[in-house]
Parts: sequence; structure tokens; C-alpha cells
Amino acid sequence: MSEDPRWNLLNAPFLIGTLVLAVALVPYHLFHSQALGLELLVAFGMYTVIGLGVTAGYHRLFSHRTYQASWFLRLLLLCLGAASFQNSALRWSSDHRLHHRFVDTDRDPYAIKKGFWHAHWIWVMESKSHPLQGVADLEKDPLLLWQDRHYFLIGAVVACIPLGIGLATHNLWGHFVMGLLFRIVLTHHTTFLINSAAHWFGSRPYTDANTARDNALLAPLTFGEGYHNFHHMWPGDYRNGVRWYQFDSTKWLLIGLSWLGMARNLRRTPAPAIRRAKLAMEEKALRARLAKAAPGVADRLRERLTLAHSRLDQALASFQTNRETRTAEWKASMLERRAELRIAWSEWKAARFLVRRLA
Ligand SMILES: [Zn+2]
Ligand SMILES: [Zn+2]
Repeated sequence: MSEDPRWNLLNAPFLIGTLVLAVALVPYHLFHSQALGLELLVAFGMYTVIGLGVTAGYHRLFSHRTYQASWFLRLLLLCLGAASFQNSALRWSSDHRLHHRFVDTDRDPYAIKKGFWHAHWIWVMESKSHPLQGVADLEKDPLLLWQDRHYFLIGAVVACIPLGIGLATHNLWGHFVMGLLFRIVLTHHTTFLINSAAHWFGSRPYTDANTARDNALLAPLTFGEGYHNFHHMWPGDYRNGVRWYQFDSTKWLLIGLSWLGMARNLRRTPAPAIRRAKLAMEEKALRARLAKAAPGVADRLRERLTLAHSRLDQALASFQTNRETRTAEWKASMLERRAELRIAWSEWKAARFLVRRLA
């Protein structure tokens, strides 16, 4: 018999109450509103800036230190993030660092192993509190301490901006339903999807050491956070969608802010390291295919695959080391490394082709 969770008397009624109210009021309002265009514009505008406050601020800046931000940008992100009503940046980061450190274990606050809905929102509604841990660096920042002390007030002021627009346009009710209520529920559940769906549905191109998945469908809803397999592998990278075509509006925002001088030292994982991880996963999948093939040919192919993998992996590793060390002769040896890489790559492609054809 499992124990009944004891509910947090603030979070549980807030999360359930806002959801029930939104389900009851929003569909009716959509059909009867006289000014839906402006209401939707305000609601999605708020959803976007507050969502970016969470992803660029709470997540990529404070939890993972993937870049450095000016004082003004930190203040702005803290004010916007507070309106997500997902706790202060300090507490959010503490939980999130625990999630990364102990992912999929009992010490992970939103472990997917306890079920999809537990990871999605039950953990927030339980009374079990997680003391601050592993955020000593953040506790030195007076801005973060200020936001932690006044988090709800700051969040309420920002979240109520649509009500000001409602008063000015004599449409308080419409902006309450769409800009405040609907926006809060949307912000909550799209963020929660990263802890639930992005640990449940999708592919694992970089690592299968944890349950995190890349999910392209979640990325536009969550400002790029859907590429969660990449993120768990390299949480210190300011990007989640690493390829240029992968939707990651937080990454694009940070690039823009770095041009403006408000963000700097954007940390990136070297491309060869990403290639090596992908290669290892690909080799694993090909081996699994070979396991189903007839022993004789499969054994020979397995040997060829192992050799091609190890040659390409080494070529990528030395390419990376060479690029990082940048000795006097690095340019000349770069040419050699590139040639080596090309040969290893074509051997790998040939071995991969044969395995795919056989199994
Ligand atoms: Zn995760
Ligand atoms: Zn993270």
C-alpha cells in the first residue's frame, strides 16, 4: 500500500484551482469575447516573456550558469520568472540541481520513476519540502536573495500587468481570464511537461544513461527546452537545441543579448564531443541490430564496426585536443587531423551501411 501524500496547502489549491477555473471559463470566454485579438496578444506576450524568464533566467542562467548576465538582465529575468509562480529562482535552482545530480533516483525531486503525473505536478503539490541544497554560489547574489524574500509580491505585480491593460481598455474580465488565468495555467503546464513528457516521450541521441529525451514537439511550447536529452548530457551548454534548425528561442534570445552586451561568455560544448556521444549511441543501436543477425557474417561485421567506431572516435578526440591546444603547428596538424577524420568517417559510413543492409 502506498502512503497518501500530504498536500501542500498553498500549492495544491493554487494549481488545481487555477486549472479548474481556466477549464470552466476559457472555452466559454473564447466564444463570447468582443476583444479576443488584444486579449490573445497580451496573453501570449506574457506567456512568452515569463516563459523566457524561466528558461533564460531560472534555468540556463541561475541553475546551470551557462552564461554571465548584466545586473539589469538578471533583475529583469528574476522579475519575469517570479510571475511563473514556480517558486523563487533560489528554490527552483536548488530543486533543479538536485534533479540533475540525482536524476531518476529517489533523491530526484521530480523523478519520472515515480510516475508521469508525479513528475508533472504531484511533486509540487506534496507537502514534502526540499531544503536548499547546492546553491551556495547563488546565495551570495543580493538580487537572488531579494527575489527569494519578495518572490510572490514581485510575481503578482508582473502577472497582473494584463489587468492594467484591462482597466485601460474597459475589459478587465477578458484580460483576467486570458492574460492572467489562462496564462498562469499555460506557463505552469508547459514547464511541467519538461519534467514529465521530456522524460517519457522522444529520442535519446546522446545518452541512455538517464530517462531524458529529445522531443521536437515540446520545444516550441517551452522556448527550446524540449531537447532534454542533449540538456541532461551537457547541462552547462547555453543551448538545448544544438542544431541550427532545432527550435530553441531561448538560445536565439541569448545570442541576441550577447550582441547587445547584456549576456556574455555563452558556454558551448565542443562539436567533436557531441559527435562522439552521438556516435557511441549509434554504434550501440547498430550492435543491437547485429545481435539479431546470423552469427558468421554478424561476427565479422561487428569486428568491422568496432574498428571503424574506435578509429572515428579517436580521430574526433584528437581533432578536439588539437583545436583546444592550439600549438605553433596547430594549423598544419589540423589539416592532417581533418584528413584522418575524413577517412575514419567514410570507414564508419561503410560499416554502418553493411550492418543496416544485413540486419
Ligand atoms: Zn530533466
Ligand atoms: Zn537543467
